[in-house]
This record gives sequence, structure tokens and C-alpha cells, in this order.
Amino acid sequence: MDIDILLVTPRIFYNPKSNLPENVLEIYENNEELLKRYIDLECEKRSVNLPFSGFGYIGQLSIASFLEKNNFSVELFCPDDIITFERYKKLLMKFLRQNNVKSVGLGPYTYQYPTALAISRIIKNTNSNIYTIIGGHHVTFLDQLVFEDSPFVDFVVRGEGEWVIKNLLEHIENNKIPRTVKGITYKINNKIKRNPDAQAGNIKELPPLKYDMLQKQNKEMCGHISISRGCPYNCTFCSEKLFWKYPRYKSSNQINKEISTLVNEYHVKHIRFADDTFTANPKIVAKVCEYIRNEHIDLEYSQIWTRADTINTKIIKQLNNLSNTIEVCLGIENASNKVLNIMHKNQTIQQNIKALKIINKNNMIAHGFWILGHPSSDMQKEKYTTNFIKNLIKNKICMLNETSIFTPYPGSAVYSNPEKFGVNIQSFDWSKYCENPPSFPTVYSLKNLTQEQIFELFKERYKTVNSMLSSTLLSS
Ligand code: SF4
Repeated sequence: MDIDILLVTPRIFYNPKSNLPENVLEIYENNEELLKRYIDLECEKRSVNLPFSGFGYIGQLSIASFLEKNNFSVELFCPDDIITFERYKKLLMKFLRQNNVKSVGLGPYTYQYPTALAISRIIKNTNSNIYTIIGGHHVTFLDQLVFEDSPFVDFVVRGEGEWVIKNLLEHIENNKIPRTVKGITYKINNKIKRNPDAQAGNIKELPPLKYDMLQKQNKEMCGHISISRGCPYNCTFCSEKLFWKYPRYKSSNQINKEISTLVNEYHVKHIRFADDTFTANPKIVAKVCEYIRNEHIDLEYSQIWTRADTINTKIIKQLNNLSNTIEVCLGIENASNKVLNIMHKNQTIQQNIKALKIINKNNMIAHGFWILGHPSSDMQKEKYTTNFIKNLIKNKICMLNETSIFTPYPGSAVYSNPEKFGVNIQSFDWSKYCENPPSFPTVYSLKNLTQEQIFELFKERYKTVNSMLSSTLLSS
């Protein structure tokens, strides 16, 4: 089969003996207690059959669908979720030998970056004529380093992928050096060439996601839709704004088509709206909800992600039309307004409580996300936050809570200026840049918190709050 581009998922590999992800074993090697909690929680999550898995494919699927619409032949390579490195390598080499693949695209999260480089090596060693293209947040902000880290990568795509990859593939097809392709970095005559940034694309041009590509791979069907790209806020730990540039919205026709395709063609009953702030634009939310109500679309479950300051009774009443059960995820982050202020979160803990109460009153599921160890935090503030969460659960204000360790991701304000935030970056082992499951020792320390102290605080939070979370999941 002739394939213009094969989109490959870099992944965490499983240890053949334990059936656990390699990074989990490595991270928790000396922490039996945490390893046990991790396994328990994973088993509990599987036993309650949480509706949303496979989230990692939405970016790839969007690029694949767009390229297909533009007459490129595209395939996804995403074998079994639980796989060892050796088996993955064998399958990939077999695929590359059996098909005429011109280019391979990889889009790793930061912790997958070393794996993506290992995969590029496999590709080039199998067939050196295949072009290797790497994109995503991590390499967008550290593009030039890629060429120091690996001789097996041909092009880095910076920022939004669809339009840049399309231009790049057109050049590859015509054997032209991509001098005019905006948004790429590459090596030519032993020199790194960084073309100017590409403009943000018109997302109204994006076709509905071609879920049949995932079906072909025997992936569980999970309905992921995004109605927008980008975020108007600029939190210090986040790179969304720099990556997507500015917020853009799809048209109502596009969104309605995506919903009806998922429901009518794929018989999806659960939809996750994968937007940074779903309720940022009330007019669009109203149209989405109106469409679902008018078309009598009967969804069992939907999940949205948003911010407390966009939640009010009016918008929540509209959201009630989405599905029978609605889960509203809020990035609450910390119970201290001082920390929220340093984060540039632009909202207070009081606003979060108000939003949680509105969500509860309207019989939706509130799901709080927290960041432990953000710059300007300390022992007292973290212990206070742990107690705060316990009270939210006890008083049934927010039953689901998940804590991540702060991670200074490239592209975030903290990574660009760690001294200003009192952060000491202790490791550039990118495989450790993962907040879930978090790495210990942490990749950083704070003026006010050592790596050991962050670990102890997390353990305390994990043991108390997460056990309350898991029992909530089991009883739901
Ligand atoms: S954390 Fe959320 S609200 Fe803040 S910039 Fe990132 S996406 Fe936007």
C-alpha cells in the first residue's frame, strides 16, 4: 500500500513481567506503597469502566482527517494499548517493510519525547528514505534541540499541525526543499534552518474526525469533540496560549455534523468535549445544547472541561441538555488565593466554590483538578489544600478530585523564567516530565519546598484524598 504519511503514536511501554507501564515501575521502584496504590486505583478505574479512554488520539485523528480531505493517503499506527517495546518495534518494522511509506509523523507529549526519538531511529534503520516529522507542544518550544538529540529526525513542525504538514508533504511530493513552508525547523547542509512561524489556521476548514480510522485499529470507540482551539488565559504552568496562539471556534454546522456523525454512524453514547474552556463562549454552548435538544440526541454521559469564572446558573441550565449525566471538570489547582494569583489563574478559590455549588445544585458531577507544588506554595498551603479537598468530599461539594504534581513544561512561563518563580530545575530527563503518574524525585524543587518535601506532601494527598476518590468511583 502507498502511504503518504503514517501517523505513529509514541507511547509508554509495558514491562512484560508485571504488565505495568515501564515508567510506572521506574518511578515507583522504591515506593512500594505508592506502587500498590497506583495498581489499586488503575484496577478500580477499569472495574467501574470510566467512559473516556483513548484521548491521546484526537490530535492525530484531526491531522489525519484534514490530510485525507486534501487527497493524501494517511494511516495510523497505534497497536495494542498494553505492549512491550520489543513487540512494538517488530510490528512497526513489519508495517514499514510491507508498505510504501513516504513519511512518518510523531506527536509526543514531553514524557514521550525520548520514545519518539527511539521510534525515529527504528524508522530510519528500517528504511532511510522515509522522512521523519515530529510535532506537538514539546518540540514546538525546543525545536532546535531535537537536531542535537537525534540524527534521525528530518523536520520539526512547530505549533498547530494540519496546514503546516499539508504544505510540507506537498513539497516532499514534488522533491522540493521546503524553504517556504512556514512553521518548520529542519537541517540543511549541516545547518539548522528555522522558517518563520505559521499563522493560526482557520479551524472552520477542518473536516469531522474520521473515527473509522480508529475503528480500523480496533480501538474502543470514544466520542471526543472539540468546538474550539486555544485559550484566552495565560496560566504560568501552561503552554496552550503560546501553542494555539489565540482562541478560535468551529462553526455550528461543523460541530453539529461531528455530533451527528458520532451518534448516528458510530452509535456513541458518551462524548467528551475536549476543549480547554468549554463554557468560554456562551453563545456557542447555547447552540450546541439547542442542537442536541432539538434533534432528540440521547447521550448517556458527557464530560466538559472549563473554568469556574465561566460557570453560572444560566449556562449550567443549558448544559443540562447535553446528556443524562454531565461531568464538569474544573482546574481549581490550589486552595490558596496567593498561589492562584502567582499562577495568573485570574480566579479565586471563592469563585471555584461558587461554581462547584451551582454544578451540584443542578445534579451534575463536579470533578476538581489540583496542582501540588506550584511556585510560591509551601508546606502550610499544601496541607491546607489537602484538608480543603477532604472537606469538599466530606460535604459532598466535589466528590471527584485528582492531584498532579506541578511540572515545568517547556513553553510555560515557569520553564522560560524559573528563577523569577523560585524554581530550581533539577533534571532534564524528559521521560520524567509527567504529572500523572508523577515522577519522584520531582524534576524540580522550590525555594520553599525540597524534592523530598514535595514527595511527602503528594504521598499524604494521594493516600488520603485519592482513596476517598477511588471509593467514590467504586460507588458511582
Ligand atoms: S490552564 Fe487552562 S485556563 Fe489556564 S491557560 Fe491553560 S488552558 Fe487556559
